[in-house]
Amino acid sequence: MDISENIQDLKKELPEGVTLVAISKTKPNEDIMEAYKTGHRIFGENKAQEMTGKWEELPKDIEWHMVGHLQRNKVKYIAPYVSLIHSVDSPRLLKEVNKQARKEERIINCLLQVKIAEEDSKYGLSMDETEALLASEKFKSYNYITVIGLMGMATFTDDKEQLQREFGSLEKFYNKLKDQYGFTQLSMGMSGDYQIAINHGSTMVRVGSAIFGERNYS
Ligand SMILES: *Cc1c(COP(=O)(O)O)cnc(C)c1O
Repeated sequence: MDISENIQDLKKELPEGVTLVAISKTKPNEDIMEAYKTGHRIFGENKAQEMTGKWEELPKDIEWHMVGHLQRNKVKYIAPYVSLIHSVDSPRLLKEVNKQARKEERIINCLLQVKIAEEDSKYGLSMDETEALLASEKFKSYNYITVIGLMGMATFTDDKEQLQREFGSLEKFYNKLKDQYGFTQLSMGMSGDYQIAINHGSTMVRVGSAIFGERNYS
């Protein structure tokens, strides 16, 4: 795996206005530094402890994005430094992020994760729940978070039409809410489906294995 070549090729391919989040979960610091040396600074992880360890050890100008399901009792570990949480999937989690951000005296940017996969997916708000949350009085009282957009994960499939339907549904929902809530980011697309996601308006792609190689969980 030539990490620096992979990331440079990928960045050349992405249209202007699409941000690459390099998903480095399970990968060692040396791999991250190889990408870092090309000038890349935005990395994503799916576990709070792993991300915090890497944040402690690696250069402080890295922007760390949380992309995986986040338990409320883990928010405090990432609140001092996280730059964007993509995976806010419940009103209680958003409340906790606001609370911890307040303790840290910083504002934390968040995306609401919306369920779009036709297959059963565990995490994410329905579109109705998303609208209800955004319209609630509680939401308006949260002064230490900014919701800058939405995130979605499609079904893990090769079926292009299904991917188009799923990304298309989130694109439509995002466009409906965007002006009212001042959204600027739509996070959709991974190694296997980022081109389709970009065709459906993604502004942020989360790519792991196409940069760092397959993950080994053993
Ligand atoms: C692991 C992960 C990715 C990256 O997946 P790849 O297929 O390796 O590109 C993107 N988003 C989330 C939420 C992930 O957990």
